[in-house]
Amino acid sequence: MKQLPAETIRLLSSSQVITSVTSVVKELIENSLDANATSIDVKLENYGFDKIEVRDNGDGIKVADVPVMAVKHYTSKISCSEDLESLTTYGFRGEALGSICCTSEVLITTKTAADTFSTQYILDSSGHVISQKPSHLGQGTTVTVLKLFKNLPVRKQFYSTAKKCKEEMKKIQELLMAYGIIKPELRINFTHNKSFSLQLT
Ligand code: ADP
Ligand code: MG
Repeated sequence: MKQLPAETIRLLSSSQVITSVTSVVKELIENSLDANATSIDVKLENYGFDKIEVRDNGDGIKVADVPVMAVKHYTSKISCSEDLESLTTYGFRGEALGSICCTSEVLITTKTAADTFSTQYILDSSGHVISQKPSHLGQGTTVTVLKLFKNLPVRKQFYSTAKKCKEEMKKIQELLMAYGIIKPELRINFTHNKSFSLQLT
């Protein structure tokens, strides 16, 4: 037997966390809800394989947290295993953003109430920031996911038929409706290819 290279281990474990377009949308929405967002916009292009974008008006990410925001096992939500007894957030494992970075190309734009303007960060496959520039967006966070599963042909292969893609769109709509039902005060907007759109208020 041989030990797998670290990069392969990362990719395989990421593909267990991020299994579908729906799982990306679910993780990003839950991050928005954990950040106290009251309005969330979800935009997909080509069923999410070209682009998934989730924009919220939540708390934003502090400048000090930016270098580790997408590094695996970094979280702002718990500090030790005892905290698992009193969870108040959807996330706590610090795995979602890191796993999404490993399986796609990710940009994060964010602004907190303390920041004077928003900043867009480009991340590499290990979740580290490779570049940044000022942006015009208001308070909150926008995560843009490009070329999902570009390095996981087996996951992409699963969606090779139009039927599978349409089923996935239906799953996303059902997921959004479920959040709409448990959070009646939340505004959710969902668009696919600029043509289809669904508004839940
Ligand atoms: P987890 O949710 O388990 O902490 P994630 O990888 O999903 O792990 O996110 C890592 C961290 O990035 C979160 O703990 C949070 O501090 C920050 N974060 C991610 N998405 C958002 C968002 N939409 N708004 C504010 N902070 C965010
Ligand atoms: Mg999370």
